[in-house]
Parts: sequence; structure tokens; C-alpha cells
Amino acid sequence: MRQNLDYGKKANQKLHQWNFGSIRQKLKYKCAQVGIHTELISEEYTSQECLSCRKRNKPKNRNYRCSRGFSWHRDGLGSANIRAKYLGEILVVGLMARSKTG
Ligand SMILES: [Zn+2]
Repeated sequence: MRQNLDYGKKANQKLHQWNFGSIRQKLKYKCAQVGIHTELISEEYTSQECLSCRKRNKPKNRNYRCSRGFSWHRDGLGSANIRAKYLGEILVVGLMARSKTG
């Protein structure tokens, strides 16, 4: 989100000062209203760890690519890894569709 936006210097500064703690609180509140459980998960390494073999590689651009062939948009990888952390499972790509919460 932060890298692709350019609304001029002042607007950019505002965007970069977004208070993520406040956004988190609002999201938590909205979710609670409709009965959705939320949990804070660290994003550390989530866009660097291969979903297929669990090795870490630093993506050089928006696309993650593992030397063994796995590739995905790194935000997609980050999301899937955060989900895997939440579920406490070592995620293997082929198993994703059949995991316990669907
Ligand atoms: Zn891999």
C-alpha cells in the first residue's frame, strides 16, 4: 500500500503517519460487533518464508520466488503465512484448500 501511492509530499507524509494501532483497534471493534474473533500475529518473516519448503528468501520485488520453483506475490505469501501462524500449522501449499477451517 505504501509503496504504490504518490499524492504529493504532504499527503504522502500523512499516509506514512497512519496510526496502525488505531486501525487495529477499529478493526478489532468492528469484528467483535459481528462476532469475529481477532488475534494479533507478528508479520515477521511472513513474506520471506517459502510456503512450499519453509526456506527463507528475501524477495527482490513484489514477487516472491523460491529456488525450488515456488513463486507468488509476496503479499499473498505474507497473508498465507500469517494464517498458518494463527492456525499453528506448518502449511504446505497442496494442503491449503483442505485445511481445518476451509
Ligand atoms: Zn521453497
